[in-house]
Amino acid sequence: MTEDTDLANFCCEELAEAVSPDANAGLIEHDSGLILLNLGEREEEGETGVVLATIRFCPFCGTEIQTDEDIEAALGGVEETFN
Ligand SMILES: [Zn+2]
Repeated sequence: MTEDTDLANFCCEELAEAVSPDANAGLIEHDSGLILLNLGEREEEGETGVVLATIRFCPFCGTEIQTDEDIEAALGGVEETFN
């Protein structure tokens, strides 16, 4: 165990530990820097896709981790990647 956990982008250790670049994780750190909530797979018209939601506040401590402006600015990249 190290105490050098990189919290640069995170408000608390809980969030830092929960967020993963893995697309199957519950909380995903996207390349754009956005934190996305993974709502699971949904089948629509025969195609299965992962439903992702943007979150504005940390689910653990309530800190605002990204503003609406951040989300909007980065959303184009998110859609490109996940469609
Ligand atoms: Zn937090």
